[in-house]
Amino acid sequence: MKSLLDLFLRKSTCAHTHALINTNEGYCPDCGAYLKKYFYIVRCLRCDVKREAKIYFGDVLPKEKYCTNCGSKEYYVEKLDIISFIDIPYAIHTKEIVLQGEFEFASAQIWVDSNNVKPVRYLTGSV
Ligand SMILES: [Zn+2]
Ligand SMILES: [Zn+2]
Repeated sequence: MKSLLDLFLRKSTCAHTHALINTNEGYCPDCGAYLKKYFYIVRCLRCDVKREAKIYFGDVLPKEKYCTNCGSKEYYVEKLDIISFIDIPYAIHTKEIVLQGEFEFASAQIWVDSNNVKPVRYLTGSV
């Protein structure tokens, strides 16, 4: 995985190889940046099936050109900070630098429900 991560993080001088070994977030021992693990899952835009992903020049792309379920070429990429273990074979994981101000935003992006992934709805009380 090292070469993939190096490619993906090519703008950074540190590949954070020794960071986040047992945790999902924390400081990199090599460069001191605060990092968080993120997962990317590629899905078919038409039928929503999960597609195998790859990293190509820093972009997350589907491995195959067409969806094997419906034949569509269109896809979208989901960025998650937590995934269920059934999604792991499909997911690309990265270690990304988190700026302090983005913590709140990041924590609002937790997705739940292993079968039918939907964003968590926050009730504001003013519906
Ligand atoms: Zn680092
Ligand atoms: Zn499809």
